[in-house]
Amino acid sequence: MAKTDLEYAKEEAIRQYAKRVESAAQIEHIENQKLPAGSDMYYYCGACGVATEVLPENYLFTPYKLCSQCQGLKEQGWLEDAQRSIRS
Ligand SMILES: [Zn+2]
Repeated sequence: MAKTDLEYAKEEAIRQYAKRVESAAQIEHIENQKLPAGSDMYYYCGACGVATEVLPENYLFTPYKLCSQCQGLKEQGWLEDAQRSIRS
């Protein structure tokens, strides 16, 4: 049976997720608690690990927990499959 557009989209989204995880592994993740007081705070996607935001220490609004692309995966219900695909 032919694959639907949605199935192709899911495969591509999962491929891109794997790429993000790979590139996030190459970047230095800054630990905010090790920075001197008054430093900007660095935030990373909780799923793939790419940098999401740099905010002042006294930021007013909660930082994003996921990057836009992982948020999209989550909304489609594909995030768990994506995470499973790189663990195997
Ligand atoms: Zn992400």
